[in-house]
Amino acid sequence: MTSKFIPYGKQWIDDDDINAVVEVLKSDYLTTGPKIKEFEEKFADYVDAEYAVAVSNGTAALHAACFAAGIGEGDQVITTPLTFAASANCILYQGGTPVFADIKADTYNIDPKEIRKKVTDKTKAIIPVHFTGQPCDLDEIHQIAEEYDLIVIEDSAHSLGATYKGRKMGGLSDMSIFSFHPVKHITTGEGGMITTNSKELYNKLIQFRTHGITKSEDNYINESHGKWYHEQQFLGYNYRMTDIQAALGISQLRKSDQFLKRRQEIADIYKQELKDIKWLKLPYQKEDINSSWHLYIIQIDEDKLDKSRKEVFNYFKDNKLGVQVHYMPVYYHPYYKELEYQKGICLEAEELYEKIISIPIYPKMSDDEVRYVIETIKIL
Ligand SMILES: *Cc1c(COP(=O)(O)O)cnc(C)c1O
Repeated sequence: MTSKFIPYGKQWIDDDDINAVVEVLKSDYLTTGPKIKEFEEKFADYVDAEYAVAVSNGTAALHAACFAAGIGEGDQVITTPLTFAASANCILYQGGTPVFADIKADTYNIDPKEIRKKVTDKTKAIIPVHFTGQPCDLDEIHQIAEEYDLIVIEDSAHSLGATYKGRKMGGLSDMSIFSFHPVKHITTGEGGMITTNSKELYNKLIQFRTHGITKSEDNYINESHGKWYHEQQFLGYNYRMTDIQAALGISQLRKSDQFLKRRQEIADIYKQELKDIKWLKLPYQKEDINSSWHLYIIQIDEDKLDKSRKEVFNYFKDNKLGVQVHYMPVYYHPYYKELEYQKGICLEAEELYEKIISIPIYPKMSDDEVRYVIETIKIL
């Protein structure tokens, strides 16, 4: 038995992570130094992409990707409603319009058939989210993208290390983004990454990260005034990651496979121990994928249990389980309501939202803690 609070997700930081950070603090570069380059190279290598660009967080990564994709006023971008608001906000940052396509009832991922229904002559891109760590139907999505000449930006914030037909998330579409928030697979405190195989997109992303400024002589619009010269060529941001964070990222990345293995183990134990409970539906996994198990979501059948989802949620909370609901459909937020998105756009997502609870899963979770979660569920 455990008496500690168990969150739904959290980081795992060891002494080697701490030492890596301290080393940078004692060095000459606190930001945009050798550690950024090293982290980017190692990350690109890990996810089998040509290029990686480190940024200050996953949301900045999404914004940068939308910029590099050329999304602007009047453009529509299709995404899922069952995601963190950032997946849609990034479209708004660029003046584009998020268009929500419903999810599949089995995987909870965006449904390619629904994407197809939402394509118009204004559609510019698709942002699929590999929800909970289970890769989307990428072949079908790429097929639609090819037919209609759309850019695909994978929101891979949940899916570092996940595979689709044996291939890792990160190098399969125009761009992919990752988050290093502490609940994600590896952490840099705050942090994000965009991966791509396109040199052209890479150059845009690098420049966007630092105000739209370039110091690369070959690309100057005007003539250089001397060695100090640099040019701001478009409106970018300061979305830089520090070397301090990158050092932590490098150290964390080394353990990514070990973290993934533990997440899979916990998911396996949950499946084994919870599969016979009648009021509870476990996550479905497609055969051609490997999930990275960012989240473990159970569906509550209120009729069979004779308790509401809210009651079950509160019961977990009372028993020191840091459960959460991922997610309320993005367009339920008051801000989106004001933009005139209405209830009923995506019925599967709306229906699912009423039934789900995310239970704890993270690599540092002990066997005792996993057992405690299971027992707490079984008593219900
Ligand atoms: C975490 C997350 C993000 C944003 O990442 P931050 O690093 O927190 O900005 C984007 N999309 C999804 C699906 C996420 O879970």
